[in-house]
Amino acid sequence: MADLETDYLVIGAGAVGLAFADTLLEEDPDCHITIVDKHARPGGHWNDAYPFVALHQPSATYGVASMEMCPDRVDTHGHNKGMYPLAKHAEILAYYHKLMMDHMIPSGRVSYYPLTSYESGNEGEHRVKGILSGEEQTIKVRRKLVDGTFFQTSVPTTHTPGFEIAPGTRFATPADLPALWQHAENLPDHYIIIGAGKTAMDTGVWLLEAGVAPDKIGWVRPRDSWMFNRKLLQPAHAGLEGLIDFQVALVECANGSENGDEMLAKLGERGVMLRLDEDVTPKMFHFAVISEGEVEMLRGIKQVFRQGRVTSIEPGKMHFGEETVSLPENTLFIDCTASAVPFEARANTRPFFDGDTITLQLAQTPFVPYSAALAAFVEANFDTDEEKNNLLPPAPLTDSTDTYPYAVMANLMSTGILSNNEKTNEFNARCRLHPTGPAIAKMMEENDPRLAQFASVGKKIRDNMPGVIALGMKAKAIHEGAA
Ligand SMILES: Cc1cc2nc3c(=O)[nH]c(=O)nc-3n(C[C@H](O)[C@H](O)[C@H](O)COP(=O)(O)OP(=O)(O)OC[C@H]3O[C@@H](n4cnc5c(N)ncnc54)[C@H](O)[C@@H]3O)c2cc1C
Repeated sequence: MADLETDYLVIGAGAVGLAFADTLLEEDPDCHITIVDKHARPGGHWNDAYPFVALHQPSATYGVASMEMCPDRVDTHGHNKGMYPLAKHAEILAYYHKLMMDHMIPSGRVSYYPLTSYESGNEGEHRVKGILSGEEQTIKVRRKLVDGTFFQTSVPTTHTPGFEIAPGTRFATPADLPALWQHAENLPDHYIIIGAGKTAMDTGVWLLEAGVAPDKIGWVRPRDSWMFNRKLLQPAHAGLEGLIDFQVALVECANGSENGDEMLAKLGERGVMLRLDEDVTPKMFHFAVISEGEVEMLRGIKQVFRQGRVTSIEPGKMHFGEETVSLPENTLFIDCTASAVPFEARANTRPFFDGDTITLQLAQTPFVPYSAALAAFVEANFDTDEEKNNLLPPAPLTDSTDTYPYAVMANLMSTGILSNNEKTNEFNARCRLHPTGPAIAKMMEENDPRLAQFASVGKKIRDNMPGVIALGMKAKAIHEGAA
C-alpha cells in the first residue's frame, strides 16, 4: 500500500507545473494535486536566478491564470519607461510563494513537497525522496503523472561552463555582481561578458547602469541575436495597436521571403525586431524581448569578440581554440553561457497526453505559462487523448533565424484549431495568460471602436497565409533536419 495518494502528481513547482495546477484546480473542482520539487521554495529556476533578473515580457501574461502579477500602470523611469512593468526576481519569487501559501495549500486540495525529488514510478505507484531527510515515500497516482520539467531550464549558477578556467582566474556568474561593493579595494580592471543571450544582455545593462565605463567591458558574442521590440508587446488592453502591428508584420514579412534571415531583416526594418549591431546579421533567435533603451545602452559596448566559443580562460588571457586574446591581468570573466532553455532538446517533443502521463510543453511558442494552463483546461474538459492531442500539437522550440518561420506558422495553425473549438475559444477569452483573448472579449462586450482595427487582421493573416506556410514548411524541414 502506498504512503500517499493523489489524483495528479505534478513534478516541478516552476512556472509550468504551477500554471497547470492552478487551472486544473479551477476546472476540476474534485481533484487532489500533489506537487513535488527539488527546490526549497516554489518558483523553479527563478530561485537560482541572478538577483537583477526580471521578466523580459510584461508581467501581464506571466504567472498563473487565477492571480494577477502585473500592476495596471506603466513604468515612469528607467529603460522600460512608458511600458508595462517587468516583474523582478524578488517579485517573481514572492508571487509564487504567495500563490502556494495563501491559495494552493489553503484550498485543502494541494499537497506540496519542497526539497523532494521524484525518483521513478511504475503502474500507478510512484516514489519521491526527501532530499535532506533521505526519506522515501510511495505515492499512488489515481489519475495522472504530470511532467513539469520538460524545459530543463539552465541558469548560470546551476550549469557547468563549457570552457576551462585556470586557477587564479577572476570568474563570476551574474549572481555574484551585486556583491562587488564588498571588493571596493580590488575592483576588476576589466570585465568580459561571455555569452550572447538575454542573460548576457541583462549583465551588460547592469554593469553600465552600475557605472562601469563601456570601454572597460568586453563581450564574447559567438552568434548575434534578433530580439522582439518590447514596445509592441504590451498588454492587449493597453497596447492592442502594437500587437496588431506585430501580428500583421509577421505574416507580411514571412509572405514572399525566401528564408528566415530575409523575413527577420524585413521585421528589423519595420522596427518589430531589434539587434545590437546593424552591420551584423544575427543567426540566433531565442524569443528574447528587449527595449529600444536597452539596445541603445548595450551598443555602447564596442569591444565585441566574434571568434566563436571561448575554450579556456586564465588571468589576463582568453582562448578561442588556438587563438589567444590578451586582456588586463585583473579581468573579471562573467559566465552568461547557460542556455536557459536547452534548445538542443527540441527533438524531444512528444504528445502532451499519453495514457497516464501528461508532458507539459509549448502549445504556442514562447507562451510558457499559457501553454501549461491550456493543457490543464484541455485535460479537465475533454475525454480522450486523441481529442486532447488534436487540440494541442506541441509547438516547436526553434532557436535560429532560419527555423523561426516554423514557429510562426505553427502558432497560427494552433490559433486556428483553438478558436474553432467552442470550449478552448471560450477559455482563451477569459484566461489572463493569453496575450489577447480577455482584452478582445472585453472590447466585444463594450462594443469598443478599436475592434474595427482588429477585424482587418484576420483578412491580412488569411491573405498572407499561403506565403507563411510556404516559408514555414521550409523552416520546418531545417528544424527537423537539425534536431
Ligand atoms: C533568466 C531567464 C529569464 C526568463 N524570462 C522569461 C520571461 O520573461 N518570460 C517567459 O515566458 N519565459 C522566460 N523564461 C523562460 C522560463 O524558463 C520559463 O518562463 C519558465 O520559468 C520555465 O519554467 P519551468 O517550470 O518549465 O522550469 P523550472 O523553473 O526549471 O521548473 C522546473 C522545476 O522542476 C524541478 N524538478 C526537476 N526535476 C525534478 C525531479 N526529478 N523531482 C522533483 N523536482 C524536479 C526543478 O527543481 C524545478 O524547480 C526565462 C528563463 C530564464 C532562464
